[in-house]
Amino acid sequence: MFMETIMMKRFELSELIRSDNFIDGKWVTAASGKRFAVTDPATGKVIAQVADSGYADARAATDAAARAFPAWRDALPKDRAAVLHCWHALIVENADALGRLISLEQGKPFAEGRGEVMYGASYVAWFAEEATRIYGDIIPQQQRGKRMSAIKEPVGIVAAITPWNFPLAMIARKIAPALAAGCTVVGKPAEDTPLTALALMILAHEAGVPAGALNLISASRENAQAAVADWLEDGRVRKITFTGSTPVGKYLARESAGTLKKLSLELGGNAPFIVFDDADLDAAVAGLMASKFRNGGQTCVCPNRVYVQSSVYDRFAALLTKRVAALKVAPATDPEAQIGPMINARAVEKIERHVNDAIRHGARALTGGKRLSELGANYYAPTVLADATPDMQLSCEETFGPVVPLFRFNDEAQAVRAANDTPFGLASYFYSQDARRIDRVSRLLEAGIVGINEGAISSEAAPFGGVKESGYEREGSKYGLDDYLSIKYLCQGNLA
Ligand code: NAP
Repeated sequence: MFMETIMMKRFELSELIRSDNFIDGKWVTAASGKRFAVTDPATGKVIAQVADSGYADARAATDAAARAFPAWRDALPKDRAAVLHCWHALIVENADALGRLISLEQGKPFAEGRGEVMYGASYVAWFAEEATRIYGDIIPQQQRGKRMSAIKEPVGIVAAITPWNFPLAMIARKIAPALAAGCTVVGKPAEDTPLTALALMILAHEAGVPAGALNLISASRENAQAAVADWLEDGRVRKITFTGSTPVGKYLARESAGTLKKLSLELGGNAPFIVFDDADLDAAVAGLMASKFRNGGQTCVCPNRVYVQSSVYDRFAALLTKRVAALKVAPATDPEAQIGPMINARAVEKIERHVNDAIRHGARALTGGKRLSELGANYYAPTVLADATPDMQLSCEETFGPVVPLFRFNDEAQAVRAANDTPFGLASYFYSQDARRIDRVSRLLEAGIVGINEGAISSEAAPFGGVKESGYEREGSKYGLDDYLSIKYLCQGNLA
């Protein structure tokens, strides 16, 4: 309904930087009047002082979402779809500025920032189309005079809480299915990267998302728990969709149990990447480079443990080390940058702790293994560690940085056992050219996602999510809308 009439508006980067909360279609300060600084991880310079929200702001957002819900729920699916299509078009139109904003607050090189914009936008387009395909069922008649059917309805208000590593894609792929289903949304992005999410609100408003249907508040890390607490307790919020760490996911599940909300939890990973001796080693190196070094290794699906069969271990290590040593580390403003700064000081400290622990336990740095202090406080050299073993911290925890530990294995059973020896189960990868092995190993790996001779696995058309302590439910694909819908059974009697 809107697409044909709205001229696609292109914004300057400065016009996309907002520092207030977006509630009920308006930009408002936090009730406390407090603010916190958002900084550029490349330089430490302050980009903006944004609202530091708390309980009252979360409540105001829920009130607005509750008021907006009946009309949005009752809007024709094709009208909700039209708004989402328009939002998608505006995101694409502003991809350069949004990509620069992502680079600025998150640190990833511009090409990756822009790539994230297009990736996030693809979910908006996908769910715009899915909005018009929310079918129910007519149940075959069981008794004369009685008809039964099942229809799908939006669950209600959805609270979306997102991490810093993909400031646009993570929130877009929650808001889009929620709005498509007819839900209204309250959201909170991460402390480090609220600006891209706030910029999305400008475009959503421009696209015709009605006041109150989409609300976003920012909060400092110190206030994150207080800001979200109201949503956990408020019975009007019917669903929490969260992407982030496993401990916070468990906390949200526990604390929201009082009002028995639906939950989608996209949590931490500890992805194995297995290279069998029958693999195409060049393809395996290329796949590992693509999946490991995206966003400087700060992705939930990036390989954290690389298992290489003994007979090809040295050859694979040499091929990989050559590629890793050639990666260009630089601020996002450098057009040749392939790896930017890590998100903050805590992230670099964790990487350093993992690498030092591995070296203490006998690992050898084939390249890297140190900070790049000459570039700034948050830079770490892309690193390959040989002789990794299960007693090292990096074998059981996400390092979330540009570090590849190479573990050695002798046979398939040993590799699968090691790969599954973790409480997590998000992504996994293996390289092999043996059809029977491919069939076997893909069934045996305990993970929500398996990349087979492929390192780039994400797509809006595919179900994304984990098993075990990596969470539950799926984002994207035809399954991604189900979590925002509840099924209502209608039973009509006394018919002729
Ligand atoms: P995080 O610390 O769990 O934070 C995620 C979000 O939760 C942020 O908005 C954060 O706010 C908020 N938060 C933190 N503590 C909270 C609390 N007690 N109550 C309410 N909200 C709270 O995770 P992160 O460090 O930002 O992100 C990295 C993690 O996300 C990794 O484990 C990664 O694997 C995971 N991840 C998973 C997926 C997936 O699809 N499975 C995708 C991307 C990332 P603050 O920023 O203010 O702390």
